[in-house]
Amino acid sequence: MASLTIAIVGRPNVGKSTIFNRIVGERLSIVEDIPGVTRDRIYAQAEWLGRQINLIDTGGLEFDDQDFNSQIRYQAEIAMAEADVIIMLTNVKDGVTDTDEMIAQLLHRTNKPVILAVNKVDNPEQRSDIYEFYALGLGDPYPLSGAHGLGLGDILDQVFEIMPKDPDLNDEDDIIRFCLIGRPNVGKSSLVNAILGEDRSIVSDVAGTTRDAIDAPFKVDGQDYLIIDTAGMRKRGKVYESTEKYSVMRAMRAIERSDVALIVVNAEEGIQEQDKNIAGYAHEAGCGVIIVVNKWDTLEKDNHTMKEFEEDIRDAFRFLDYAPIIFVSAETKQRLHKLPALIKQVAANHSQRVQSSLLNDVLREAMLVNPAPSDKGRKLRVYYLTQVSTKPPTFVAFVNDKELMHFSYERFLANQIRKSFDFTGTPIRIITRERS
Ligand code: GDP
Ligand code: GDP
Repeated sequence: MASLTIAIVGRPNVGKSTIFNRIVGERLSIVEDIPGVTRDRIYAQAEWLGRQINLIDTGGLEFDDQDFNSQIRYQAEIAMAEADVIIMLTNVKDGVTDTDEMIAQLLHRTNKPVILAVNKVDNPEQRSDIYEFYALGLGDPYPLSGAHGLGLGDILDQVFEIMPKDPDLNDEDDIIRFCLIGRPNVGKSSLVNAILGEDRSIVSDVAGTTRDAIDAPFKVDGQDYLIIDTAGMRKRGKVYESTEKYSVMRAMRAIERSDVALIVVNAEEGIQEQDKNIAGYAHEAGCGVIIVVNKWDTLEKDNHTMKEFEEDIRDAFRFLDYAPIIFVSAETKQRLHKLPALIKQVAANHSQRVQSSLLNDVLREAMLVNPAPSDKGRKLRVYYLTQVSTKPPTFVAFVNDKELMHFSYERFLANQIRKSFDFTGTPIRIITRERS
């Protein structure tokens, strides 16, 4: 999942979210809507010429009760910490303002590449007005029009020009990458410490990688694992690092780099709204998912406790019906020894590839059990099913008419695939295509 992270910074109203939505384009509208999950527009994945980028709109990171200058400063700091490339956005209508100068000053301190973009250049006559932006000392200004979608290609080309080919090329090795995500205090860092053994506690200061993320390697039964971004679990005390949006953004970045995400919930407190949001991001990102119920030692238990807790989870995380649940305690280490094998199994399912011949046996079976629906006398025909990619497993169903394929039939096919092959822990995707 090698990808590049771009942060957009700039004062309010220059057009950051407009540009963000332009670049992200259709992606936000194609992801299914998960009820009860807030869709934050501060972080999203997009594709440009076959390369994957992660985008952060720092303007969406608002820190209540902070004055204007602190808000801007935090946003710039986050961009400098989290991004591979920073786009500083200004606009031609207002010209260079004091705030632009302040942001540029902050960005002068980073050694990451900064691209200066001037938005709202809606017509060619305004192009000559962008030269005053050289005064910011950030190199050539690039004209943009978010309103008309102009100039974005040039900027993204420039981003890839200055960036090395692949920031972390890691698809080819057989290390399993996973992250632990969840609300503060559910026990993520305690779990990491328990998994690694006390002597390798993440609280100690180990030099970070280039991306300000500390990844912790370990090996069990001959299998290499890497815990992604343990730095994100540390509390470092800056005002913005304790805010929910910041931790969500951090979690999303960890998810993008992981094969499997462990969603950690706290048995003592039960499932909360924020848990659902976090789980929703993992589901959408398409990585493998395991639900880890921590602090299991804190509950008075009887024969029904586990079953009841499981029902609560299934109810709260309906979209994660494929995710296994494990009940553990970082404190007593209960069941922690089972975790590596479970992660390995989910990672294997996540990268599993099924032969087309086997899939089409399943398809024939499925159509017998539940014939495809018809609409106004037209009957859906599913001719062929084939797996086109892994991580997550993605299937294409070739049909006579896309309009006739309904969500419920897609879901039925997905369930039939799950019945025949072990895809526990991984989302699977079905794309419908008309046979030409
Ligand atoms: P943000 O606060 O930086 O995220 O700015 P927004 O994206 O919310 O945009 C602020 C205002 O500028 C909105 O009214 C947009 O419609 C407008 N806007 C954004 N891009 C352009 C553009 O390229 N040209 C013009 N004329 N207006 C734009
Ligand atoms: P994080 O913010 O998610 O990284 O959570 P921490 O690992 O810092 O844990 C928060 C608090 O919960 C600490 O006081 C831990 O000692 C405590 N804690 C973590 N795991 C367990 C557990 O399994 N059982 C009990 N009883 N307490 C735990």
